Amino acid sequence: MSQKKNPMPTQEPALRARNFDEVALGYTEEMAIDEALRCLSCKNMPCVSGCPVNIHIPEFISKVKEGDFEGAYEVIAKSSSLPAVCGRVCPQETQCEARCVRGIKGEPVGIGRLERFVADFHNANSDRLPEIKEKNGKRVAVVGSGPSGLTCAGELAKSGYEVTVFEALHTAGGVLVYGIPEFRLPKSIVKKEVDNLEKMRVKIMTNVVIGKTLTVDELIDDGYEAVFIGSGAGLPNFMGIPGESLKGVYSANEYLTRSNLMKAYLDGADTPIMKGGKVAVIGGGNVAMDAARTAVRLGADKVYIVYRRSVEELPARREEVEHAQEEGIEFRLLTNPVEILGYNNPEDKRDARNGFVTGIRCVKMELGEPDERGRRSPVAVPDSEFVLDVDTVIMSIGTSPNPLIKSTTAGLEVNSRGGIIITEGGATTKDGVFAGGDAVTGAATVISAMGAGKIAARSIHEYLSK
Ligand code: FAD
Ligand code: SF4
Ligand code: SF4
Repeated sequence: MSQKKNPMPTQEPALRARNFDEVALGYTEEMAIDEALRCLSCKNMPCVSGCPVNIHIPEFISKVKEGDFEGAYEVIAKSSSLPAVCGRVCPQETQCEARCVRGIKGEPVGIGRLERFVADFHNANSDRLPEIKEKNGKRVAVVGSGPSGLTCAGELAKSGYEVTVFEALHTAGGVLVYGIPEFRLPKSIVKKEVDNLEKMRVKIMTNVVIGKTLTVDELIDDGYEAVFIGSGAGLPNFMGIPGESLKGVYSANEYLTRSNLMKAYLDGADTPIMKGGKVAVIGGGNVAMDAARTAVRLGADKVYIVYRRSVEELPARREEVEHAQEEGIEFRLLTNPVEILGYNNPEDKRDARNGFVTGIRCVKMELGEPDERGRRSPVAVPDSEFVLDVDTVIMSIGTSPNPLIKSTTAGLEVNSRGGIIITEGGATTKDGVFAGGDAVTGAATVISAMGAGKIAARSIHEYLSK
C-alpha cells in the first residue's frame, strides 16, 4: 500500500499563472477508490476528532471504497452542509488529516480530497435537496451570508423556520465569494449552495447593511423572533507605517473583492485595480498567498511576499506556499517594511505620478531568543535598510470584526478584540440574538464558521420552542 497520497492533478504552473481557472482538478473515480483503499477503517477513528464538525470519516471513505459515492455523500451531509467548499479549502493538514494514523509512517489519507470528490460527484449527479419540515410560522433573520450564516439559515429552514438572510454586498457567499479566489474555489460551487438554500424557501436580501439600512432592533420590531449575526471579520488591519494612504496601497480584502466580486480583471469593469508592474504583498498567511497569486494572474511583472519571520513560521498552508512559489512569486522573508515611499514632484503639482507608490523601505530581520511560548520574535538587524522597488502594496496582516453592528445594537457586548461575546450555544448578551463565525472568533476558518452556524441554529430552535 502506498505511503503517499494519490497526487492531486493540477493545472501546469506556467498555464495557470495566466488564468483564473481552478488549479486543482480533482480525483477521477479510480484515483478516489485507490485513495480510499489506503484508509485502515480504524475502530477508534482518531481522524473524526480532528474535524470540527465530526464528519464520520471512516464510514464515508468505506462507501467510496465500494464505489457508492452517493452513499458517501449522505454520510458527509449528516455533519456538513458545505462539503464541496470544505473539501477544497479546509486546512486538513492541521485538522482531520493531522490525526490520521497513516500519517505516522507516511502521508495521511487524503480525506479532504476524497470529500471534495464525493461532493463534486453529488453536485454533478443529483439535485436532491434535504427534507424540509412544514412551515412553523416563526421568522428568523440571519445577518451575513458567509459560511456561518448560510449554515445557520439552512439548518433552520430544514426545521420549518421562515428565514431571511440580509447581506451587505450584492452577492451572497461572504469570504467564499469576495475573498477566496476562483482558482481555489470556483464561484459556481458557492452559487449552487446559495441556490439550494433559496429552493429551501430561504429568502436572501442582498445590498442590505444591518446597522445602516436596518438595525438589529428594527428586525426584531419587524417580527423576527430571533436574529443570528454572522457578519464575519472583514475590517482590515494596517501596520500604521508612513505612506499607507498613498495611491496603489490596498488592503488584501479590498484588492481581492475588486478582483473576485467586481470582476476588475475584465477590461471595462466598473471598478479600477492596478494591474501589471511590481507588487509587494505584506504578510504570510493564506490571504497573502491569495492576493499574491491574484496579482500574478492580473498580469504583474513581479510579485513579492514580504514577511518578517522565516519560512517555518509562514502561517499559510504549505500547499498554498508551494503553489505560489511554482507560479514565480518571490518570497522576501525576514524582511519588515518600515515606510511606503511615494512619488512627489513639488515642481509640478499636476504631475499625474504624484502620490503613487514607488517602493517600500524595509529592514532585514533575524529571529531572536524564544519567548515563554517558544516562539522566536523577529528583531531588526542594525544598518540593514534597503528599498524594494514596487508600484503596488497589498497589506495582508489580518482583519477584525467590523464594529458597525455592535455600535447600533443596544445590549450587544463584544470583547477587547471586537468579537461578539457568546455562550457555548451561541447566545449573545442580548435576548433573542445569537452569533457565530469570524464575528465572534476573529478571522478563523470556513469549517469553524460553519460549525458555529450549526450550533447557533440548534440553540435558536430550542429558544423558539420554549
Ligand atoms: P464571512 O465569510 O466573512 O461572511 C460574513 C458576511 O457578512 C459577508 O458576506 C459580509 O459582507 C456580511 N456582512 C458584514 N457586515 C454586515 C452587515 N452589517 N450587514 C449585512 N451583512 C454584513 N478559511 C479556510 O478554512 N480555508 C481557506 O483557505 C481560507 N482562505 C481565506 C482566504 C481569504 C482571502 C480570506 C479573507 C479568508 C480565508 N479563510 C479561509 C477564512 C474563512 O473564509 C472565514 O473564516 C469564513 O469565511 C468566516 O465565515 P463567516 O460566515 O463568519 O464570515
Ligand atoms: Fe477534514 Fe474539513 Fe472535511 Fe472535517 S470538513 S473532514 S476537517 S476536510
Ligand atoms: Fe482512515 Fe486515517 Fe481515519 Fe484511520 S485515521 S480511519 S486510516 S482516515
